Amino acid sequence: MTAARRPVYLDYMASTPLDEQVRVAMRRWLEPDAVGNPHSVHHGAGWRAAEAVEQARAQVAALIGARPGEIVFTSGATEANNLALRGPIGRRHIITSAIEHPSILDGLPVLERDGVAVTRLPVDPDGRVTPDDFGVAIDERPTLVSIMAANNETGVIQPLEEIAAVRGAHDTLLHTDATQILTTRRLDVNALGLDLLSLSGHKLYGPMGIGALFARDGLDLQPLLYGGAQQHGLRPGTLPVALCVGLGEACRIAAERAAHDESRIQPLREHLFAGLKRTFPDVRRNGTPQHALAGCLNVTLPGIDAAAMLLELPELALSTGSACASGKPGPSHVLLAMGHSPQTAHSSVRFGLGRHTSRSDIDFAVARFASWWAQARH
Ligand code: PMP
Repeated sequence: MTAARRPVYLDYMASTPLDEQVRVAMRRWLEPDAVGNPHSVHHGAGWRAAEAVEQARAQVAALIGARPGEIVFTSGATEANNLALRGPIGRRHIITSAIEHPSILDGLPVLERDGVAVTRLPVDPDGRVTPDDFGVAIDERPTLVSIMAANNETGVIQPLEEIAAVRGAHDTLLHTDATQILTTRRLDVNALGLDLLSLSGHKLYGPMGIGALFARDGLDLQPLLYGGAQQHGLRPGTLPVALCVGLGEACRIAAERAAHDESRIQPLREHLFAGLKRTFPDVRRNGTPQHALAGCLNVTLPGIDAAAMLLELPELALSTGSACASGKPGPSHVLLAMGHSPQTAHSSVRFGLGRHTSRSDIDFAVARFASWWAQARH
């Protein structure tokens, strides 16, 4: 076994490391002479900053087949999701799923208090919304549908194409939270007929603190924040040039690498599962491999307190579930929706593999689990 980096980072769903090319592209805008507000229209420093921002906007658009004018920079996917849900004028009924990220789910009670009807679709034991359930719900003529492209805890890919096909003739807006999928899968807003899509820099080997919302041209949205006229007043505030440039470069690289990364990482995920199975023969996989992100493996180790176990494995950086939910006590809402009991949910671990994960990282992790178990079971 060649030496693996320590700690071995297996939490790519929580955040991805900054790509070296992204860092280089951003550095130019972090130098002392990189002065200039991209919204200053009367001098060259402002124009140059604006040019960099617009190039980045075009790179983000190109990743998802959108037009640059359809991209709104935000502080991350949390803000993009909030804007997608609250922005559309005249919303009366929203259909979403029980397994969405908290940046979708936790805002729903506020909308309900404002008189918006909300349908939360269940998922099947494999963690997927079924097109049949969706077909029944869409007959209620919702104004907005929001279904994530892939889940951040299980890596389960949702049947977005089928959902888009069922939505077909209905006059309803379609939003997807694509935060987790874009590093290993391409997604085209026009092919899917999407009206809104959220993404985040730090899940794409880009910087933290920036994301984007795709909003189809002509869509009538109201802002969450009020301020200047930046980004047509839809998202006022001075744009952070270095972060925009970083997100743009990260999107450019993702477009180039997604297929390659998916085919390299997927066998590592299977190698990991096979290794875990040798130590824990009754390990249960949450979600099926055919419908999972290449880099995500969520498993239940029956009888084991996963959080306590991870504290005893400091050489491994991995999580029991979502970092966004880690401040909340209680079992994962995603696993409960898939039919888990609170006990089995608490026995679950999420592995996130990515661009820099090597086979020796996986071998090291498997060996650490084996030696931990050899000690723990006595
Ligand atoms: N949606 C999903 C599916 C996510 O995984 C995350 C991050 N955990 C978010 C939204 C929020 O993204 P951000 O950290 O950019 O606010």
